[in-house]
Amino acid sequence: MHDELTALAERLAALGDRPGVPCPDPVNAAMIRNWTQALGDTGDWSELAPPAMIQVWSMPGLGAARAGSIADEPLRLLDGAGFTGVVATNCDQTYDRYVRVGEALRSTMRFGGVTGPKKTAMGEGYFVTWFQSWWDEDGARVAEMLFRVLKFRPRGAPRRPSGGRYPLRPAIGPDTRFFWDGVDAGELRVQKCADCAALRHPPGPMCPECHSVERDHVVAAGRGTVHSYVVHHHPPVPGRTPPYVVAVVELDEGVRIVGNVNGCDPADVHVGMPVRLVFERMDDDLVLPQWTPLDAPDPEPPAPRPEGLDIALTPTFVIATALATRDHTPVHHDPALARAQGSQDIFLNILTTIGLVQRYALEREPGAELASIAVRLGAPAYAGDTLTLTGGPAADGTYTVRGLVSLGDHVTATVRFKEPHP
Ligand code: ZN
Repeated sequence: MHDELTALAERLAALGDRPGVPCPDPVNAAMIRNWTQALGDTGDWSELAPPAMIQVWSMPGLGAARAGSIADEPLRLLDGAGFTGVVATNCDQTYDRYVRVGEALRSTMRFGGVTGPKKTAMGEGYFVTWFQSWWDEDGARVAEMLFRVLKFRPRGAPRRPSGGRYPLRPAIGPDTRFFWDGVDAGELRVQKCADCAALRHPPGPMCPECHSVERDHVVAAGRGTVHSYVVHHHPPVPGRTPPYVVAVVELDEGVRIVGNVNGCDPADVHVGMPVRLVFERMDDDLVLPQWTPLDAPDPEPPAPRPEGLDIALTPTFVIATALATRDHTPVHHDPALARAQGSQDIFLNILTTIGLVQRYALEREPGAELASIAVRLGAPAYAGDTLTLTGGPAADGTYTVRGLVSLGDHVTATVRFKEPHP
């Protein structure tokens, strides 16, 4: 397969620019407005199109026949050889000039090359690179894009634990609100009958001893022993990495409470083991009372998020931006299908990511003219997460933008302006 792939890559590269990616509509105000509104871009784009929108002009649209990509043949060959996984790694756009409303564009594609096999974090694979260019009516190039994907042999390794928003949320009602208010205040509250003073957990509306509905609570000291436990290996639970211990902990106050025992090897947990209360932050909003061996250190708090432009990746944002970039791939709007393909949820498309990098750079350097945006892609930006963009001028005159999600770096970008950066 390797020799066949190499020969095919050489043959395709020798073809040079191939026509055949239609731009269905001229550059127009309606599509620009959809795009700027979806991405939250407040720049003045009344005459010129946002440069990061360039690929949108040649997107075929829903139901339209997809123009064959110059890379289809090598990608199929890799599929057949077992390199069935695919992930985009790079998207570099160079802007010769901004395009104007009313211009009709055409687009060409050129094969770049294949490198590999290489060992990567995803598994062994090949990098496949191709180029797309856009041209004006006078035959002058207005933009070019490099696109690179990794085709890899999936290793069948366990999926990385889900990050972002912890997917399991407590149900909080009138009977349990005092408990979660206590967690917010750093207290483990145990319900107490206001008449007979009996303690009870889990909370309920009525005292099982005297049937009084008058309620109070005490604050537990946070010490107990493992009364019983299980080690959970299977099935997978969203947001948790097995194996982990689920224990019934008997508090020194006498009631029992269910929680995880963390901070030690599950094999070290035993009935009668002394444990102490720790509060573990699961995400930006949720803290859970958990347990750890009496002598274990406190869990490390998560690193604080950097200051930057926070973009809440609501499902509406993910879907609206996918549609505004004319990208109808179901993983960007159909949660069930995205999960069936091994994703945690629907996720941001690449055309939006590069548009957000443009937005971040131009909001900070208003009036500057973009020459290029080179994007290296990392962790997916799932619905429910927050994308935090940070960055600024680098020593070499470029502009660096980093986009962080809870799984790590979603994007690392190098932005170049036409004018020397002040
Ligand atoms: Zn009572």
